[in-house]
Amino acid sequence: MNKTVIVGGGIAGLATAFYLQEFGSSNYTLIECSPTCGGKITSTSRDGFLIEGGPDSFITQKPAALNLCKRLGLGDQLVGSNTGKQATTYVWSGGRLHPMPEGMMLMTPTMVLPFLRSSLISWPGKIRMGMELFIPKLNSTQDESLASFVRRRLGTEALNKIAGPLMGGIHAADPEKLSLSSTFPMFQDMEKKHGSLLRGMMKRPKRGTANSSKPTPMFMTLHGGLQQLSDALVAQLPAHTVRSGCTVLNVRPHEAQYQVLLSDGSSILADHIVFATPSYVTADLVQQTDPTLASRLRAIRYVSTATVSLAFRRADIAHPMQGAGFIVPKSEGRKITACSWSSAKFPHRAPDDSVLLRVFIGGALAEDLAEQDEPALIELARNELRTIMGITAAPILAKAYRWNKANPQYDLGHGSRITEIEQSLTDLPGLYLAGAAYRGAGLPDCIQSGIIAARSIAERVHANHDEYTSVCIGT
Ligand SMILES: Cc1cc2nc3c(=O)[nH]c(=O)nc-3n(C[C@H](O)[C@H](O)[C@H](O)COP(=O)(O)OP(=O)(O)OC[C@H]3O[C@@H](n4cnc5c(N)ncnc54)[C@H](O)[C@@H]3O)c2cc1C
Repeated sequence: MNKTVIVGGGIAGLATAFYLQEFGSSNYTLIECSPTCGGKITSTSRDGFLIEGGPDSFITQKPAALNLCKRLGLGDQLVGSNTGKQATTYVWSGGRLHPMPEGMMLMTPTMVLPFLRSSLISWPGKIRMGMELFIPKLNSTQDESLASFVRRRLGTEALNKIAGPLMGGIHAADPEKLSLSSTFPMFQDMEKKHGSLLRGMMKRPKRGTANSSKPTPMFMTLHGGLQQLSDALVAQLPAHTVRSGCTVLNVRPHEAQYQVLLSDGSSILADHIVFATPSYVTADLVQQTDPTLASRLRAIRYVSTATVSLAFRRADIAHPMQGAGFIVPKSEGRKITACSWSSAKFPHRAPDDSVLLRVFIGGALAEDLAEQDEPALIELARNELRTIMGITAAPILAKAYRWNKANPQYDLGHGSRITEIEQSLTDLPGLYLAGAAYRGAGLPDCIQSGIIAARSIAERVHANHDEYTSVCIGT
């Protein structure tokens, strides 16, 4: 009774399974089409280098990922991102790398002197950003794009050089299309509350000053790479509950349950289905059950990206690489969007005499570039690093990962689309959604979506059980 099937063994599906167990509802099967679970999390150790193909860290402000690592006994494996100068992000502008002014909170300066001294923004650009204090707030309930918001409040230069490549880059998105309320709602809240971002920043409580001796780093990862997290989750799930190398082909209503059809010809009857798959996959799977839900799910666009990891001997690189890496504004006309200096950003990523860099390609503004084959991606990354960082040496290691239609786009109207999707689900008891497409694409949000799905199922199972018990007691 009360069988659950989880479709997809990425972090959202794995978290759903783990928390179902935690909530005492362990009658589930997780189906993953790849031979191994983890989805976009993939870490490889080679010749002393630790290469992340997908995510390389998680934000700690949203606690779900950090808590899960601790719950899995990985507390001693947690590694914080480097701080101080090593955390500086650079911006490629006008043919050189400029450090982001100290104290920038994403798009908003919080320290006057470093901002005024910065070589990144021109004087007219700085004056325009300072005028933000006097720009009246917009009294509108309409969804606004990142580009429109930043242009309106801080000016075009702040959009082109900072917010676009940095905040648009996190979502591999076009800032003109990215919904601010669905991705960075705190900035809209700040405008509403304080009438100005600069004023809001001045009034915010200072991080880690309340009582803590050492604030939690903003980003964390695991000593052996993030795959430690997905591997630890799989290890906690009883072997019979996970079926990898098996694709869910269809899900259809069957009396009061759902029938899940699998690629090996078998099927499972389930009371609860959690779709932890990309929304376009989920759309195909629910097409027969609810075509309206399917078309709402298909309305969430995905774009392709690629990452290229390149390792070099330290002695072969003149650049000091003191920082977390650099971002590249679209207006610069280059073929990469960003580069993480992985071995400077986190410890244990490369041997002491070497460095590891990770180049980002593609996204909404240059999707076709990410769809090339691996040698072409590596060549492109090397050419760009030659121009930007002066690296002419041959890499001692190169590895590209292509992420075809992997990044969900939180386009304008995303919030309403999610509300409509959730409305459809209220008519389909037993169906749940988890994962990156809906209420946050970062790992903590994906984990949280699994917790919410698991909790809803456990509550329903226990409610039925209580009813069942009370009926038994009554008779
Ligand atoms: C290059 C890149 C870098 C990123 N960097 C970061 C970062 O640093 N920090 C961060 O927090 N986030 C980052 N993200 C985002 C984050 O990694 C993803 O949003 C998250 O991993 C998605 O998890 P998920 O479980 O929703 O989906 P997925 O990981 O996509 O898992 C879905 C699973 O479903 C399986 N599946 C699909 N169809 C079927 C089917 N029919 N039957 C059975 N199984 C099926 C797939 O094989 C897959 O394993 C990054 C993403 C990318 C692409």
